Amino acid sequence: MYEINETHDPNLKSWVESANDPNTDFPIQNLPLCMFWKAGTEHQAKEKMGVAIGDQILDLESIIGRGLLDRFFKDDDREKYAPYFNFACLNPLAWMIGGNRLLLRAGLTFLLNERASADERGEVQKSLFPSSDVIYKVPTSISDYTDFYCSIFHATNVGSMFRPDNPLLPNYKYVPIGYHGRASSIVVSGTDIQRPKGQNRGDAEKPPVFIPAKNLDYEMELGFFVGNGNELGQSIPIGEAEEHIFGVCLVNDWSARDIQAWEYQPLGPFLAKNFATTISPFVVTMEALAPFRTKAFERDPDDPEPLDYLSDEQNKNFGGLDINLEVYIQTEKMRTENIEPHLLSRSNTKDLYWTIGQMLTHHASNGCNLQTGDLMATGTVSGKEKSERGCMLELTWRGTEPLTLPSGETRRFLEDGDEVIMKGFCEREGFRRIGLGECRGRITPAT
Ligand code: MN
Repeated sequence: MYEINETHDPNLKSWVESANDPNTDFPIQNLPLCMFWKAGTEHQAKEKMGVAIGDQILDLESIIGRGLLDRFFKDDDREKYAPYFNFACLNPLAWMIGGNRLLLRAGLTFLLNERASADERGEVQKSLFPSSDVIYKVPTSISDYTDFYCSIFHATNVGSMFRPDNPLLPNYKYVPIGYHGRASSIVVSGTDIQRPKGQNRGDAEKPPVFIPAKNLDYEMELGFFVGNGNELGQSIPIGEAEEHIFGVCLVNDWSARDIQAWEYQPLGPFLAKNFATTISPFVVTMEALAPFRTKAFERDPDDPEPLDYLSDEQNKNFGGLDINLEVYIQTEKMRTENIEPHLLSRSNTKDLYWTIGQMLTHHASNGCNLQTGDLMATGTVSGKEKSERGCMLELTWRGTEPLTLPSGETRRFLEDGDEVIMKGFCEREGFRRIGLGECRGRITPAT
């Protein structure tokens, strides 16, 4: 697990002025990674690795190519590490051993620091682009995507809609429940989401009909990327889980509840989920998150302890993550009338029943090989309170308690033209606030 060091010093400031704005997601203490094109070049040029700083994106390949980070790597032979920065995805950096990524972080902190020399600033400036001129891409090459179900509040709410007497199934407190999702339909924030069609059996007296989904929903989740994978047949001990995690992003697991209700038994989610999953463009590294680690979920005294392979002292004391999550909606009418996006919920990943380390270790515990760049998501992050419910299914209690929006409109589920905007940020006394950026998507009509 990464330690807090001088790169987390809250007093550090950058010569990139916008990075010193107290509300920015990307101060010098964050330095999240992304893949981008300069707008207009996305059809001709290769995508580039970038680092977000304030309202700018730093082109990593360019500063590596010009030798600006040479002195920060132990091995000063640029030919050895420069190829890492010349890929079409972040996988080489995900795979990079933690120690080298710490050197990269230290080097970037130095170059972007307000104490950098005028010459250095001038050189680095040549590799900076305003983020408003940038088009993002899904940051890693994702071979596989797995979605968990780790909020006990979400699982209890959803369970109680279907099984009021027995909301939580007996495996829940033993097994981090998950399912294999679909990697090919993962899209980056800003991509429109077409309403899926599917089988609906709203009328139990009649056969199902094939129509545009009626109960389209979002799920507010935290995603994390696999750094180093494991060989087929090998597992990942809980004490080593953190070394295999690259960083986190925001995930919207779009869900068609009517399709889901009809198809999910006996094998779980399928077409109700795999039409699209939206992720935020930035990988906030585990290095950057060091100040925001917290203890794992405190179980009720009556709950079983996790089985041995899912538990150790480090995971128990620091395996949790203190990340605030927010969901907003803006309808077509709200956009026309210039009404700001409306806050739907606020939740926090520290309320998850299982830690990301436990999810990863459990996933590989049968010898399943995880691969660099793979995406895992926590499942809908809901808290105890009504205001902390991370999807519409819970917020409107299956559509029975519609929401009223500031435009006077009501919502049971999402309508065409609705835009869902997710945000994430970390705050802790004595540290600089860092953010995860945004994860947004707008619903377009079925075709
Ligand atoms: Mn989900």
